Amino acid sequence: MELWYTEEHTENARFSIKVDKHLFSEQSDFQRVDVFESYEFGKMLTLDGLMMVNEKDEFVYHDMIVHVPLASNPNIKNVLVIGGGDGGTVRELVRYNRIEHIDMVEIDKMVVDVSLKYLPITSSALSDKRVDLHYKDGIEFIKTKENEYDLILVDSTDPIGPGEGLFTTEFYNNCYKALTEDGILVNQSESPYYDRDIREFKRSYKKIHSTFPVSKIYQFHMPTYPSGHWLFGFASKGIDPVENEKINEWNKLGLKTKYYNTDIHRGAFMLPNFVKDMMNEN
Ligand code: SAM
Repeated sequence: MELWYTEEHTENARFSIKVDKHLFSEQSDFQRVDVFESYEFGKMLTLDGLMMVNEKDEFVYHDMIVHVPLASNPNIKNVLVIGGGDGGTVRELVRYNRIEHIDMVEIDKMVVDVSLKYLPITSSALSDKRVDLHYKDGIEFIKTKENEYDLILVDSTDPIGPGEGLFTTEFYNNCYKALTEDGILVNQSESPYYDRDIREFKRSYKKIHSTFPVSKIYQFHMPTYPSGHWLFGFASKGIDPVENEKINEWNKLGLKTKYYNTDIHRGAFMLPNFVKDMMNEN
């Protein structure tokens, strides 16, 4: 009998991937954690029935969450990752020699354990000596931090369950306080396509826009996320990710990437009209 993983993207749209094996399924203290072996996307990690990472398209997400801010500010040394339990974000960060320290704050140890076991390439850098892993709630962790991080990456689940508080004004204010003068915040900002995602995107964008002097949106293409059209928010106290001659310095590093390049970097901030309109709506 054929086995299919099916995700409900809206009440009226579903996305299915044929799978060979259901390798893992357990309820953690926070969410249901599943791992599948699929034919098209390799191993896939899902949380509460939503795709988090798979072996085939994770490079797009992890390239775009890390290399865009790293090229925007060549002086980033101290980084905070909130969420990111699969390890893909940390894997891209440790490729930069200049990064001295990474705090990764993941609420759910089961996600890390399962990723280490089933997704060894994605999680390969979690043992890097510059990485401190904290099994805590990122919302609480950041409250005590001041002027400490050059970069905060919110590599979170959607604004439901444990991820909900990562989309609030209080949390963004705490990020502002925790960042250095040249600090950058990048946050997972949902999709501009389906109604439920649009509501969340607009809500988090408005909050960040009222907290940070620079706040922009950039886009990328994730075949397995709802609609395939996904967004990150970029916020800073002054650094602009596009009007910025420093971006070209990234090319001198000689990092080999499968998705990111400095043309994509600039292009990603050029948004379709329907997304621009949403950003201006109340
Ligand atoms: N790439 C994925 C996506 O956008 O679909 C996100 C990666 S997934 C590994 C996100 C992680 O955020 C999950 O492992 C979840 O446990 C973690 N998370 C959710 N809320 C959190 C919180 N309040 N503090 C720390 N980690 C949290």
